[in-house]
Amino acid sequence: MPDFEPVIGLEIHAQLLTATKIFCGCSTRFGAAPNTALCPVCLGLPGALPVLNRRAVELATRAALALGCEVHPRSIFARKHYFYPDLPKGYQISQYDRPLATRGTIGFTSAGRAVSVGITRVHMEEDAGKSLHDAGADSARWTHLDFNRSGVPLIEIVTEPDLRSAADAAEAFSRVREVLVALGVNDGNMEEGSLRCDANVSVRPAGASAFGVKTELKNLNSFRHVQRAIEFEIERHITARQDGTPIVQETRLFDPATNRTTLMRTKEEADDYRYFPEPDLPPLVLDGAWIERIRGTLPELPDARRRRFVEQYHLPEYDAGVLTQSMALADYFERVAAGAGNPKAASNWVMGALTAKLNETRGSIDAAPLSPDALAELIVLIDNRTVTGPIAKEVFDKMFASGRRPADIVAADGLAMIDDAAAIDRIVGEVLDGLAGPVAEYRAGKTKTFGFLVGQVMKATAGKADPARVNESIRRVLGNPAGKQP
Ligand SMILES: [Zn+2]
Repeated sequence: MPDFEPVIGLEIHAQLLTATKIFCGCSTRFGAAPNTALCPVCLGLPGALPVLNRRAVELATRAALALGCEVHPRSIFARKHYFYPDLPKGYQISQYDRPLATRGTIGFTSAGRAVSVGITRVHMEEDAGKSLHDAGADSARWTHLDFNRSGVPLIEIVTEPDLRSAADAAEAFSRVREVLVALGVNDGNMEEGSLRCDANVSVRPAGASAFGVKTELKNLNSFRHVQRAIEFEIERHITARQDGTPIVQETRLFDPATNRTTLMRTKEEADDYRYFPEPDLPPLVLDGAWIERIRGTLPELPDARRRRFVEQYHLPEYDAGVLTQSMALADYFERVAAGAGNPKAASNWVMGALTAKLNETRGSIDAAPLSPDALAELIVLIDNRTVTGPIAKEVFDKMFASGRRPADIVAADGLAMIDDAAAIDRIVGEVLDGLAGPVAEYRAGKTKTFGFLVGQVMKATAGKADPARVNESIRRVLGNPAGKQP
């Protein structure tokens, strides 16, 4: 039996973050009462005429440029016909043979290998309504329809069949999400369905160039589901090939409860949709200078920022990855690093104490109760030995709770480091006098007792003594333990 190679491509649907729908002025707000954001245009009632939303075009263009695509100065909207209860007009306005943008790429590293995935196309289209199968007490007998989502602007991002494993497919989806969120094009919310992924999966004997028959997995709404569903599907294809069972081109659904995919419908061919140019919309014509202006507004993308954090700040890859998970977090970190002049300490505080506090209080970095400047000031207080590490944590908690500046807290609460040698010697003397037992043990050669003695002195100063001076002082008082060289 030959080894089989999986061949995977993705189709990602992303809702554009516009206030209004793609062809009318109805609101796109998620969670509105069913059928309250509707008009004749988004319902496709006779005589209603669509008008293209300029902001949707801008956002789609941003995404296409960030994905390295060529944005075409002229693209065409087309009607894609199919019947479904949530599509009352019987067709979806999409783009077909003349999409907005083509030939992009997205790259990442997976298990040490560089993976490059071609982006076949990015096109604009409208979303359909929603069938609600479990809404209300009568849901056993009835399906309800909510048309609020009809006409919500989407882009569809289609990749080349360049992916060779389920894990890489999940990673590619994750990278596309990261780019869209960083651009402010999409909110990345897979639970609410504003970002969805379909996957086309086939297998072929390793080394073969012809593709096997593919199946499409619909509406995968988490990275985990993408990976699990594709893994199952690859195994199903390989088993069928080994058993000599034909694989049927069809659309399948993933059931997270069983980790299996099941038949949804046999696959339509493009011909079945009877595409033709939308007669109610002129071609979408984009000015070259306008496209370049949009390109000029693209932010630094997360992948580039991650690489810069490693190079510029000498952060470990891990830190760079965590800090660039959101633009806001990365911005915050950069301001702390700049203010403190100590990027690694800035990274540790932002990823550690600050993130923990935000998680605990369910707060967001945008609304963090302490400013990057204040956190930078705290790091400076540590670096210039105004406060000890344990005290810094206490100051941080007070800053987070009150929004006060660290220097004010240190002054008002008497938290400055005690680093006066004479004062520390005096405290060490007092503490050791009360610890005859452990002192004797240490002198008899039980060196582990040293840490305990340091801890007791630190405790006596409420964490404020300079630990290095405490160490020195104890060593001076006790000398070297029996049998140990200095
Ligand atoms: Zn409308």
